[in-house]
Amino acid sequence: MDPAQPQFQDMTLFDVDTGEPFIFTAKEQEFFARQGFTNPPKYSSEKRKRMRDEQMATKPFWHVRCFVCGRVGKTHSEPPDPKHVVCSYCFAEKWNPYLEAHPELQDLYEGVDPRPPQEQEGATESAPE
Ligand SMILES: [Zn+2]
Repeated sequence: MDPAQPQFQDMTLFDVDTGEPFIFTAKEQEFFARQGFTNPPKYSSEKRKRMRDEQMATKPFWHVRCFVCGRVGKTHSEPPDPKHVVCSYCFAEKWNPYLEAHPELQDLYEGVDPRPPQEQEGATESAPE
């Protein structure tokens, strides 16, 4: 065992608002340490997630219209160029055949997620409180 590596163990913390105990798991502690967070969380991870979701729900959003198919959707991030928003469907539809026709680009774009960033996994994962 490397003594320089801190060992994490589940610990019980208390919600700063309600005083309810919650487990700050070893895994979360490791994540916090990796992110360089020095303060322990004020709330359980479930509550932090719920608060983030609520924040997202009240966040302003923009209606955008896909300039290819006309489908309307909304996004939480202001589109840099509203006239050229492409929905994920058209993105996949146009982009994949384009890549197939240009195999030299495939290595570059392999693994690119065609969904808009706010739908991608982990995109809502922000710094915990
Ligand atoms: Zn579209």
